Amino acid sequence: MAYISIHSNCMEIFEGQNRNLIINTSCNWDVDVCKGELDYQFSSNERDKKVVVMDLSAIDESKKSAVLKLVESYHPSHLFIIENDEIPEDLLQLKEASILFKGSYESSLKAVVQQFKNRKHETWVEFDLKAIAHNLSVFEDKIPEATKTLVMVKASSYGTGDVQIPHFLQQYGVDYFGVAYADEGTTLREHGIHVPILVMNTENDAFGDTVKFDLEPSLFSMHQLEEFIAFLKQKKITNYPIHLTFETGMNRLGFYQKDIPDLIKVIQNSPEVQLKSVYSHLADADNTDLDYTKNQIEQFREIRTQFKEAFTHDILFHILNSEGTSKFGDTAAFDMVRLGIGVFGYTSTAKQDRLMPFMKWFTTISQIKAIQPGETIGYGRTYTAEKPMKIAILRIGYADGFRRSLSNGVGAVFIDGKACPVVGNVCMDMTMVDVTDVACQEGDQVEIIGDNNDMFSFSKRLKTISYEVMTSINKRVSRVYLK
Ligand SMILES: *Cc1c(COP(=O)(O)O)cnc(C)c1O
Repeated sequence: MAYISIHSNCMEIFEGQNRNLIINTSCNWDVDVCKGELDYQFSSNERDKKVVVMDLSAIDESKKSAVLKLVESYHPSHLFIIENDEIPEDLLQLKEASILFKGSYESSLKAVVQQFKNRKHETWVEFDLKAIAHNLSVFEDKIPEATKTLVMVKASSYGTGDVQIPHFLQQYGVDYFGVAYADEGTTLREHGIHVPILVMNTENDAFGDTVKFDLEPSLFSMHQLEEFIAFLKQKKITNYPIHLTFETGMNRLGFYQKDIPDLIKVIQNSPEVQLKSVYSHLADADNTDLDYTKNQIEQFREIRTQFKEAFTHDILFHILNSEGTSKFGDTAAFDMVRLGIGVFGYTSTAKQDRLMPFMKWFTTISQIKAIQPGETIGYGRTYTAEKPMKIAILRIGYADGFRRSLSNGVGAVFIDGKACPVVGNVCMDMTMVDVTDVACQEGDQVEIIGDNNDMFSFSKRLKTISYEVMTSINKRVSRVYLK
């Protein structure tokens, strides 16, 4: 991977009002730092209109001219210099722009940025892009230098948002993306992602979009391969990249080893397609007993040998997911690894591998109430107070992904570092928690997942895995990306 480095460590990125993308930074004014921030903004195609807003009141004259010269070299669509706390009306009218705000910590810009926030729902997740960069480097150290990295960004990058993570990964230098369905690939292309995209589950209806958006289908049956070739023939397209997925023990999609001779024949006789990669998927790599995984890898080696004998051009072979890369990155990475959950820091070996957790989830208190003994709380009256207590009503419910199965003490949140169990049933948009012994007030921040309650304990309480927790966080929850 050819990584670019991004010099900055105090940036937040989020979707703001009027479909603006807000990049808020309050880092120092070193020209290198500014350059890193501008590179981040200008190399991303998420918005065509690039606006830079600066509060220069805190920097000295010599730096000021260097910074301005630098900004001008990027040719922003608009540059606003804020002085005397005056906010130009034009700035507030901006729509569908990427807006970089740069000021100091004391800057009045802070208040301006607040005006751009979507403050409709005070429940948010914070994603730490530094953790992604760190985790990628951990996996990179486990695989040979020449091995490529594909990152699975299916299901809106595991629920983190449609395009921000792919944009970050693209800038970072990841070689390939993987999605589950063609529509997901289309969304990426429409938002400026140019990295090759492998589509795992190709549907015949999506052949048109596949070609139109330069997506690379993964094929898993002869019938499907033949239909795709016929489609290409009709469109007079040749050399279209395809991938083949093989069954080695997952019993999900894939060809069998016995299909190989026919596959080779068809592909060799079809100038319409170019075999780009052959892969398989591990079923049990998070198990401490790795025999099953080793067996899958051995089967895959045989498959690889058969293809290598039949074709002279370079084909990428890959079988390792995150767990597999953690354990077999040195011996079975072949030409590429396919990372997913590991990029976010949530593998079974996260601790040993020193992966950094990627997300935190917060909400706020809407109201605090005193409850008398004998009173019940919430729908169905499933909780009865036995003594005088204090409860907090939170702005989060099962519609946000805070599931109803967390009701009545199964789930707990942290306020002021103290565990507050859920009392009564979780509602669609609200949850009541016991704060009898906690100093708190309305408006206070509440941790759902974070330093006190990590992803693993939260998933365990829900009897599920981090993948499902991540992908269950509803769209209405605001996403903030920190760098
Ligand atoms: C989702 C997926 C991955 C990534 O798996 P992780 O466990 O998240 O690392 C890799 N390959 C395929 C085929 C997948 O479906």
